[in-house]
Amino acid sequence: MQLPEKVELAFLPTPIYKLEKLSKQFQKNIYIKRDDLTGIETSGNKIRKLEYSLREAFEQGCDLVITCGGMQSNHARATAYAAAKLSMKSCLLLRGNGSSEPVEGNYFLDRLVGADIVIKEPEIFNRDKDKIMLKLKTAYEAKGYKPYIIPMGASNGIGTLGYVEAFTEILKQEEAMKVEFDTIIDAVGSGGTYAGLYIGNELNRTKKQIIGFNICDDKEYFIKEITKIIKEAQVYFDQEIKTERIKIIDGYVGQGYALSRSEELDAIASLAKLEAVVLDPVYTGKAYYGLINELEKGTFVDSENILFMHTGGIFGLFPKQSQFK
Ligand SMILES: *Cc1c(COP(=O)(O)O)cnc(C)c1O
Repeated sequence: MQLPEKVELAFLPTPIYKLEKLSKQFQKNIYIKRDDLTGIETSGNKIRKLEYSLREAFEQGCDLVITCGGMQSNHARATAYAAAKLSMKSCLLLRGNGSSEPVEGNYFLDRLVGADIVIKEPEIFNRDKDKIMLKLKTAYEAKGYKPYIIPMGASNGIGTLGYVEAFTEILKQEEAMKVEFDTIIDAVGSGGTYAGLYIGNELNRTKKQIIGFNICDDKEYFIKEITKIIKEAQVYFDQEIKTERIKIIDGYVGQGYALSRSEELDAIASLAKLEAVVLDPVYTGKAYYGLINELEKGTFVDSENILFMHTGGIFGLFPKQSQFK
């Protein structure tokens, strides 16, 4: 398998190790892949996708990137910092309610790096984000820039290649560690991370199951989205990628995107105490809460070695401090 060229921005490979105490608690071998350690400013899963998206932007001679996300978007923050590193300008379209939003966390970091920021109310953002990004593009073009638009989460055909590569990285680590993961768990927010892991799994024809916990919308929505991303990425591969094995476990969205329930925050706090690992409230905390509940229900009886993807998001924890007991 030959992936296209990328720009190198992430610190790779990220470590995998066993969560010994958690494993004892659940009588399973539970491992964690620390994709939260891909960097500081650019930390998390988005940078793997941006390595491919930004290479394409570069090749097209672009000098400005436009993207979008929530007020505390990890993807928007990672894009702004990756752009700065590559001497490109960035413009972030964020979904929020203006002055009532917390100004810390990712949003603070976006401002610190000097990104242009446009904030739109949720209703308008959800309906028109792509149109608004196109308008912004035209406006920057009039000023002499050559903009490149990255869709939300960089979850498109090119972006997802970052996680096809991550899957190959996991295979190499398995060999070195002499362990075979039968289940890989990942939080699903826009689907690109899941799609990449899934494609890697199909191309390598392994028996692993890739399981996504959706943290917004529902299972049907994500099966459609992930299928779309896989179809877009198909141009990079000769082998046909079938989509029947996509597996999403629904039921852990809770109160909605970026909204936390106390049981989810309790799960984050208890893992911090048990394993000294800090998850984020929007993605990994919900996927982890899902994982421990499903383990208790017996969903993973047939799994022996489970790999949990820690996809980052630490800066999203700080605006939630007051909600922890
Ligand atoms: C965006 C994000 C995810 C979800 O990844 P997608 O590719 O958008 O599905 C998971 N965890 C964190 C911390 C994220 O920022």
